[in-house]
Amino acid sequence: MDIKEILEKESFSKEDIVFLLSSVGRDRTILFKKSAEVREKYIGNKVWFRGLIEFSNVCGKDCFYCGIRKGNKNLTRYNLSDDEILSAARFAYENRYGSIALQSGELESSVVANRIENLLHSIKELSDGKLGVTLSVGEQEPEVYRRWFDAGAHRYLLRVESTNRDLYRKIHPDNKKHDFQRRLDCLTNLQEIGYQTGTGVMIGLPFQTIDDLAGDLIFMRDFNIDMCGMGPYIEHADTPLIRYASSLLPLNERFDLTLKMIAVLRILMKDINIVAATALQAIDPIGREKAIKIGANILMPNITPGKYRNNYKLYDNKPCTDDSPEDCQSCLEARISLADAEVIYGEWGDSKHYEKRRRDTGA
Ligand code: SAM
Repeated sequence: MDIKEILEKESFSKEDIVFLLSSVGRDRTILFKKSAEVREKYIGNKVWFRGLIEFSNVCGKDCFYCGIRKGNKNLTRYNLSDDEILSAARFAYENRYGSIALQSGELESSVVANRIENLLHSIKELSDGKLGVTLSVGEQEPEVYRRWFDAGAHRYLLRVESTNRDLYRKIHPDNKKHDFQRRLDCLTNLQEIGYQTGTGVMIGLPFQTIDDLAGDLIFMRDFNIDMCGMGPYIEHADTPLIRYASSLLPLNERFDLTLKMIAVLRILMKDINIVAATALQAIDPIGREKAIKIGANILMPNITPGKYRNNYKLYDNKPCTDDSPEDCQSCLEARISLADAEVIYGEWGDSKHYEKRRRDTGA
Protein backbone atom coordinates (compact mmCIF):
# COMPACT_ATOMS: atom_id res chain seq x y z
CA MET A 1 0.00 0.00 0.00
CA ASP A 2 1.12 3.54 -0.67
CA ILE A 3 0.43 6.04 2.11
CA LYS A 4 -0.15 8.94 -0.27
CA GLU A 5 -2.82 6.97 -2.11
CA ILE A 6 -4.55 6.17 1.17
CA LEU A 7 -4.44 9.76 2.35
CA GLU A 8 -6.08 10.93 -0.87
CA LYS A 9 -9.12 8.68 -0.35
CA GLU A 10 -12.49 10.17 0.59
CA SER A 11 -13.12 7.43 3.12
CA PHE A 12 -10.77 5.00 4.90
CA SER A 13 -11.34 1.27 5.33
CA LYS A 14 -10.28 -0.46 8.56
CA GLU A 15 -7.21 -1.82 6.73
CA ASP A 16 -6.27 1.72 5.68
CA ILE A 17 -6.47 2.89 9.29
CA VAL A 18 -4.40 -0.05 10.54
CA PHE A 19 -1.80 0.84 7.90
CA LEU A 20 -1.72 4.48 9.01
CA LEU A 21 -1.47 3.56 12.70
CA SER A 22 1.44 1.24 11.89
CA SER A 23 3.39 3.82 9.88
CA VAL A 24 7.04 4.46 10.70
CA GLY A 25 9.84 6.58 9.26
CA ARG A 26 8.92 8.50 6.10
CA ASP A 27 5.30 7.30 6.14
CA ARG A 28 4.86 8.53 9.71
CA THR A 29 6.21 11.95 8.70
CA ILE A 30 3.78 12.08 5.76
CA LEU A 31 0.88 11.17 8.08
CA PHE A 32 1.74 13.93 10.56
CA LYS A 33 2.23 16.48 7.78
CA LYS A 34 -1.22 15.68 6.42
CA SER A 35 -2.94 15.86 9.83
CA ALA A 36 -1.22 19.19 10.58
CA GLU A 37 -2.48 20.54 7.23
CA VAL A 38 -6.03 19.42 7.96
CA ARG A 39 -5.86 21.04 11.39
CA GLU A 40 -4.60 24.31 9.93
CA LYS A 41 -7.25 24.35 7.20
CA TYR A 42 -10.29 23.46 9.32
CA ILE A 43 -9.39 24.78 12.79
CA GLY A 44 -6.47 27.16 12.28
CA ASN A 45 -3.47 27.17 14.61
CA LYS A 46 -5.68 27.87 17.57
CA VAL A 47 -5.94 26.31 21.00
CA TRP A 48 -8.75 26.77 23.51
CA PHE A 49 -8.52 26.17 27.25
CA ARG A 50 -10.87 24.17 29.44
CA GLY A 51 -9.88 24.87 33.04
CA LEU A 52 -10.00 21.42 34.61
CA ILE A 53 -11.49 21.14 38.11
CA GLU A 54 -11.06 17.61 39.47
CA PHE A 55 -13.57 18.26 42.20
CA SER A 56 -13.76 14.83 43.84
CA ASN A 57 -11.90 11.54 43.71
CA VAL A 58 -14.73 9.63 45.40
CA CYS A 59 -15.78 6.91 42.97
CA GLY A 60 -18.38 4.16 43.04
CA LYS A 61 -16.73 2.17 40.27
CA ASP A 62 -13.89 -0.28 40.29
CA CYS A 63 -12.29 -0.02 36.83
CA PHE A 64 -9.20 -2.22 36.80
CA TYR A 65 -6.92 0.48 35.33
CA CYS A 66 -7.82 3.52 37.41
CA GLY A 67 -5.99 4.88 40.45
CA ILE A 68 -9.14 6.39 41.99
CA ARG A 69 -11.15 3.15 41.76
CA LYS A 70 -13.33 2.42 44.74
CA GLY A 71 -11.18 -0.54 45.79
CA ASN A 72 -7.96 1.49 46.12
CA LYS A 73 -7.50 2.11 49.83
CA ASN A 74 -4.08 3.75 49.37
CA LEU A 75 -5.30 7.26 48.76
CA THR A 76 -7.07 9.96 50.70
CA ARG A 77 -10.51 10.66 49.34
CA TYR A 78 -11.52 14.31 48.92
CA ASN A 79 -14.52 16.30 47.80
CA LEU A 80 -14.06 20.03 47.21
CA SER A 81 -16.54 22.33 48.90
CA ASP A 82 -18.93 24.28 46.69
CA ASP A 83 -16.98 27.44 47.57
CA GLU A 84 -13.71 25.87 46.42
CA ILE A 85 -15.27 24.80 43.13
CA LEU A 86 -16.81 28.20 42.55
CA SER A 87 -13.59 30.03 43.33
CA ALA A 88 -11.74 27.81 40.81
CA ALA A 89 -14.47 28.67 38.27
CA ARG A 90 -14.05 32.37 39.12
CA PHE A 91 -10.29 32.04 38.55
CA ALA A 92 -11.02 30.61 35.08
CA TYR A 93 -13.48 33.37 34.29
CA GLU A 94 -11.21 36.17 35.50
CA ASN A 95 -8.30 34.77 33.50
CA ARG A 96 -10.49 34.65 30.39
CA TYR A 97 -10.49 30.88 29.99
CA GLY A 98 -13.52 30.37 27.76
CA SER A 99 -14.62 27.24 29.59
CA ILE A 100 -14.15 24.94 32.52
CA ALA A 101 -14.43 21.16 32.77
CA LEU A 102 -15.82 19.63 35.95
CA GLN A 103 -14.53 16.11 36.45
CA SER A 104 -14.82 13.58 39.28
CA GLY A 105 -15.14 9.92 40.10
CA GLU A 106 -18.43 8.34 39.18
CA LEU A 107 -21.36 8.53 41.61
CA GLU A 108 -25.06 8.27 40.83
CA SER A 109 -27.32 9.73 43.49
CA SER A 110 -29.91 12.44 43.90
CA VAL A 111 -27.47 14.32 46.17
CA VAL A 112 -24.86 14.43 43.39
CA ALA A 113 -27.46 15.31 40.76
CA ASN A 114 -28.82 18.22 42.83
CA ARG A 115 -25.38 19.44 43.80
CA ILE A 116 -24.11 19.61 40.22
CA GLU A 117 -27.32 21.26 39.06
CA ASN A 118 -26.95 23.98 41.73
CA LEU A 119 -23.25 24.44 40.95
CA LEU A 120 -24.06 24.90 37.27
CA HIS A 121 -26.55 27.66 38.11
CA SER A 122 -23.96 29.37 40.34
CA ILE A 123 -21.22 29.11 37.70
CA LYS A 124 -23.48 30.66 35.09
CA GLU A 125 -24.38 33.41 37.55
CA LEU A 126 -20.80 34.28 38.56
CA SER A 127 -19.71 34.46 34.92
CA ASP A 128 -22.75 36.25 33.58
CA GLY A 129 -23.45 33.16 31.46
CA LYS A 130 -20.09 33.52 29.74
CA LEU A 131 -18.15 30.52 31.05
CA GLY A 132 -18.72 27.37 28.98
CA VAL A 133 -19.02 24.16 31.03
CA THR A 134 -17.97 20.62 30.11
CA LEU A 135 -19.04 17.85 32.47
CA SER A 136 -17.17 14.58 32.88
CA VAL A 137 -18.88 12.79 35.74
CA GLY A 138 -19.65 9.45 34.18
CA GLU A 139 -22.76 7.40 33.55
CA GLN A 140 -26.06 8.90 34.70
CA GLU A 141 -29.76 8.52 33.97
CA PRO A 142 -31.06 10.51 30.94
CA GLU A 143 -33.21 12.64 33.23
CA VAL A 144 -30.11 13.74 35.17
CA TYR A 145 -28.22 14.54 31.97
CA ARG A 146 -31.25 16.60 30.86
CA ARG A 147 -31.39 18.57 34.13
CA TRP A 148 -27.70 19.42 33.90
CA PHE A 149 -28.09 20.46 30.26
CA ASP A 150 -30.99 22.71 31.21
CA ALA A 151 -28.86 24.18 34.01
CA GLY A 152 -26.17 25.23 31.51
CA ALA A 153 -23.74 22.36 30.85
CA HIS A 154 -23.33 22.07 27.10
CA ARG A 155 -20.52 19.58 26.61
CA TYR A 156 -20.05 16.11 28.08
CA LEU A 157 -16.99 13.90 27.97
CA LEU A 158 -17.55 10.19 28.56
CA ARG A 159 -14.75 7.99 27.34
CA VAL A 160 -15.89 4.66 25.97
CA GLU A 161 -12.39 3.41 27.01
CA SER A 162 -12.40 0.68 24.33
CA THR A 163 -15.03 -0.28 21.77
CA ASN A 164 -13.93 -3.91 21.69
CA ARG A 165 -16.48 -5.50 24.02
CA ASP A 166 -14.14 -8.34 24.97
CA LEU A 167 -11.38 -5.93 25.89
CA TYR A 168 -13.86 -3.73 27.78
CA ARG A 169 -14.87 -6.79 29.80
CA LYS A 170 -11.23 -7.59 30.61
CA ILE A 171 -10.50 -4.15 32.02
CA HIS A 172 -13.70 -3.81 34.08
CA PRO A 173 -15.44 -5.98 36.67
CA ASP A 174 -18.14 -8.18 35.15
CA ASN A 175 -21.24 -6.62 36.70
CA LYS A 176 -24.09 -4.21 36.00
CA LYS A 177 -22.14 -1.20 37.21
CA HIS A 178 -19.56 -1.69 34.48
CA ASP A 179 -21.74 -2.56 31.53
CA PHE A 180 -20.48 -1.71 28.04
CA GLN A 181 -23.97 -1.33 26.60
CA ARG A 182 -24.89 1.21 29.28
CA ARG A 183 -21.82 3.25 28.35
CA LEU A 184 -23.02 3.33 24.74
CA ASP A 185 -26.59 4.15 25.79
CA CYS A 186 -25.30 7.06 27.88
CA LEU A 187 -23.41 8.45 24.88
CA THR A 188 -26.56 8.18 22.76
CA ASN A 189 -28.62 9.92 25.44
CA LEU A 190 -26.10 12.75 25.69
CA GLN A 191 -26.17 13.27 21.95
CA GLU A 192 -29.98 13.20 21.81
CA ILE A 193 -30.32 15.72 24.63
CA GLY A 194 -28.16 18.12 22.66
CA TYR A 195 -24.75 18.05 24.35
CA GLN A 196 -21.58 18.45 22.37
CA THR A 197 -20.66 14.85 22.95
CA GLY A 198 -17.13 13.69 23.51
CA THR A 199 -15.62 10.28 23.95
CA GLY A 200 -12.21 8.65 23.82
CA VAL A 201 -10.15 5.59 24.57
CA MET A 202 -6.97 4.59 26.34
CA ILE A 203 -4.12 3.61 24.06
CA GLY A 204 -1.69 0.82 24.87
CA LEU A 205 -3.94 -1.16 27.23
CA PRO A 206 -3.01 -4.74 27.99
CA PHE A 207 -4.49 -7.10 25.34
CA GLN A 208 -5.22 -4.18 22.97
CA THR A 209 -4.30 -4.54 19.29
CA ILE A 210 -3.88 -2.03 16.44
CA ASP A 211 -7.02 -3.55 14.97
CA ASP A 212 -8.91 -2.62 18.17
CA LEU A 213 -7.65 0.95 17.93
CA ALA A 214 -8.70 1.19 14.27
CA GLY A 215 -12.14 -0.05 15.40
CA ASP A 216 -12.22 2.69 18.04
CA LEU A 217 -11.60 5.38 15.41
CA ILE A 218 -14.29 3.93 13.16
CA PHE A 219 -16.70 3.97 16.12
CA MET A 220 -15.95 7.66 16.73
CA ARG A 221 -16.55 8.49 13.08
CA ASP A 222 -19.75 6.45 12.79
CA PHE A 223 -21.12 7.71 16.10
CA ASN A 224 -20.48 11.24 14.82
CA ILE A 225 -18.78 12.50 17.99
CA ASP A 226 -18.09 16.22 18.43
CA MET A 227 -15.06 15.97 20.71
CA CYS A 228 -12.41 13.47 21.64
CA GLY A 229 -10.12 13.10 24.63
CA MET A 230 -7.86 10.07 24.34
CA GLY A 231 -4.49 9.32 25.83
CA PRO A 232 -1.95 6.64 26.59
CA TYR A 233 -2.79 4.06 29.24
CA ILE A 234 -0.28 4.43 32.06
CA GLU A 235 -0.09 1.75 34.70
CA HIS A 236 -0.85 2.47 38.34
CA ALA A 237 0.73 0.34 41.06
CA ASP A 238 -2.46 0.11 43.14
CA THR A 239 -4.69 -1.32 40.42
CA PRO A 240 -5.39 -4.89 39.25
CA LEU A 241 -4.02 -4.27 35.73
CA ILE A 242 -0.55 -3.72 37.18
CA ARG A 243 -0.02 -7.47 36.91
CA TYR A 244 0.20 -7.07 33.12
CA ALA A 245 2.78 -4.28 33.28
CA SER A 246 5.52 -6.42 31.78
CA SER A 247 3.41 -7.19 28.69
CA LEU A 248 2.75 -3.55 27.80
CA LEU A 249 4.25 -1.63 24.90
CA PRO A 250 7.14 0.55 26.07
CA LEU A 251 5.94 4.02 27.14
CA ASN A 252 7.52 5.75 24.14
CA GLU A 253 5.58 3.44 21.80
CA ARG A 254 2.31 4.08 23.63
CA PHE A 255 3.07 7.78 23.24
CA ASP A 256 3.81 7.46 19.55
CA LEU A 257 0.67 5.41 18.95
CA THR A 258 -1.39 8.10 20.72
CA LEU A 259 0.02 10.76 18.37
CA LYS A 260 -0.89 8.58 15.39
CA MET A 261 -4.42 8.04 16.76
CA ILE A 262 -4.83 11.82 17.06
CA ALA A 263 -3.44 12.38 13.57
CA VAL A 264 -5.70 9.79 11.93
CA LEU A 265 -8.76 11.05 13.84
CA ARG A 266 -8.02 14.62 12.74
CA ILE A 267 -7.98 13.44 9.12
CA LEU A 268 -11.15 11.36 9.60
CA MET A 269 -13.08 14.07 11.48
CA LYS A 270 -11.66 17.37 10.36
CA ASP A 271 -13.70 19.80 12.43
CA ILE A 272 -14.07 18.09 15.84
CA ASN A 273 -12.35 19.26 19.01
CA ILE A 274 -9.46 17.03 20.07
CA VAL A 275 -7.84 17.30 23.50
CA ALA A 276 -4.09 17.10 23.99
CA ALA A 277 -4.35 14.78 27.02
CA THR A 278 -2.36 15.38 30.21
CA ALA A 279 -1.25 11.72 30.18
CA LEU A 280 0.91 12.55 27.13
CA GLN A 281 2.95 14.88 29.30
CA ALA A 282 3.46 12.12 31.85
CA ILE A 283 5.55 10.36 29.19
CA ASP A 284 7.17 13.25 27.33
CA PRO A 285 7.68 16.72 28.91
CA ILE A 286 6.49 18.35 25.67
CA GLY A 287 3.98 15.63 24.83
CA ARG A 288 0.95 17.90 24.69
CA GLU A 289 2.73 20.37 22.40
CA LYS A 290 3.56 17.51 20.04
CA ALA A 291 -0.12 16.56 19.99
CA ILE A 292 -1.11 20.14 19.16
CA LYS A 293 1.33 20.25 16.26
CA ILE A 294 -0.24 17.24 14.62
CA GLY A 295 -3.92 17.85 15.22
CA ALA A 296 -5.15 18.52 18.76
CA ASN A 297 -6.74 21.90 19.54
CA ILE A 298 -7.88 21.76 23.19
CA LEU A 299 -5.84 21.93 26.38
CA MET A 300 -7.10 21.36 29.87
CA PRO A 301 -4.95 23.33 32.33
CA ASN A 302 -5.48 21.93 35.80
CA ILE A 303 -7.05 24.56 38.06
CA THR A 304 -7.90 22.22 40.93
CA PRO A 305 -6.61 23.73 44.19
CA GLY A 306 -3.05 22.39 44.60
CA LYS A 307 -3.53 20.61 47.92
CA TYR A 308 -5.93 18.09 46.35
CA ARG A 309 -4.05 17.29 43.17
CA ASN A 310 -1.88 14.54 44.55
CA ASN A 311 -5.00 12.56 45.33
CA TYR A 312 -6.38 12.62 41.79
CA LYS A 313 -3.73 10.25 40.55
CA LEU A 314 -5.32 8.16 37.85
CA TYR A 315 -1.92 6.73 36.91
CA ASP A 316 1.68 6.85 38.15
CA ASN A 317 3.81 9.99 37.50
CA LYS A 318 0.83 12.25 36.76
CA PRO A 319 2.43 15.63 35.90
CA CYS A 320 1.82 19.08 37.42
CA THR A 321 0.45 17.80 40.70
CA ASP A 322 2.55 20.37 42.59
CA ASP A 323 1.73 23.42 40.46
CA SER A 324 -0.67 26.25 41.25
CA PRO A 325 -3.29 27.34 38.66
CA GLU A 326 -1.18 30.44 37.90
CA ASP A 327 1.89 28.26 37.21
CA CYS A 328 -0.14 26.11 34.84
CA GLN A 329 -1.31 29.05 32.77
CA SER A 330 2.06 30.73 32.16
CA CYS A 331 3.77 27.41 31.58
CA LEU A 332 1.16 26.33 29.06
CA GLU A 333 1.20 29.60 27.19
CA ALA A 334 4.95 29.39 26.64
CA ARG A 335 4.61 25.78 25.56
CA ILE A 336 1.82 26.48 23.08
CA SER A 337 3.79 29.20 21.33
CA LEU A 338 6.54 26.61 20.93
CA ALA A 339 4.02 24.53 19.02
CA ASP A 340 3.42 27.56 16.70
CA ALA A 341 -0.12 27.86 17.97
CA GLU A 342 -2.04 30.58 19.75
CA VAL A 343 -4.30 30.43 22.80
CA ILE A 344 -7.68 32.01 22.15
CA TYR A 345 -8.96 33.64 25.33
CA GLY A 346 -12.53 34.52 26.23
CA GLU A 347 -14.12 32.22 23.65
CA TRP A 348 -15.92 28.91 24.12
CA GLY A 349 -14.16 27.29 21.19
CA ASP A 350 -17.11 25.06 20.46
CA SER A 351 -16.76 22.07 18.20
CA LYS A 352 -17.46 23.25 14.64
CA HIS A 353 -18.56 19.72 13.94
CA TYR A 354 -21.37 20.11 16.48
CA GLU A 355 -22.66 23.26 14.83
CA LYS A 356 -22.64 21.56 11.44
CA ARG A 357 -24.24 18.37 12.79
CA ARG A 358 -27.08 20.38 14.35
CA ARG A 359 -27.62 22.32 11.13
CA ASP A 360 -27.59 19.16 9.02
CA THR A 361 -30.03 17.27 11.23
CA GLY A 362 -32.18 20.32 11.96
CA ALA A 363 -31.99 19.39 15.66
N1 SAM B 1 -15.49 8.90 36.00
C1 SAM B 1 -15.60 9.83 34.94
C2 SAM B 1 -15.87 9.12 33.61
O1 SAM B 1 -15.71 7.92 33.54
O2 SAM B 1 -16.24 9.78 32.66
C3 SAM B 1 -14.39 10.75 34.81
C4 SAM B 1 -13.19 10.46 35.63
S1 SAM B 1 -12.18 9.17 34.99
C5 SAM B 1 -10.98 9.05 36.22
C6 SAM B 1 -11.38 9.98 33.64
C7 SAM B 1 -10.61 9.11 32.68
O3 SAM B 1 -9.34 8.79 33.22
C8 SAM B 1 -11.19 7.78 32.33
O4 SAM B 1 -12.20 7.91 31.37
C9 SAM B 1 -9.97 7.00 31.83
O5 SAM B 1 -9.91 6.95 30.42
C10 SAM B 1 -8.78 7.82 32.37
N2 SAM B 1 -7.87 6.94 33.13
C11 SAM B 1 -8.14 6.25 34.25
N3 SAM B 1 -7.08 5.48 34.60
C12 SAM B 1 -6.11 5.70 33.68
C13 SAM B 1 -4.80 5.19 33.49
N4 SAM B 1 -4.27 4.29 34.32
N5 SAM B 1 -4.08 5.62 32.43
C14 SAM B 1 -4.61 6.54 31.58
N6 SAM B 1 -5.85 7.05 31.70
C15 SAM B 1 -6.61 6.63 32.73
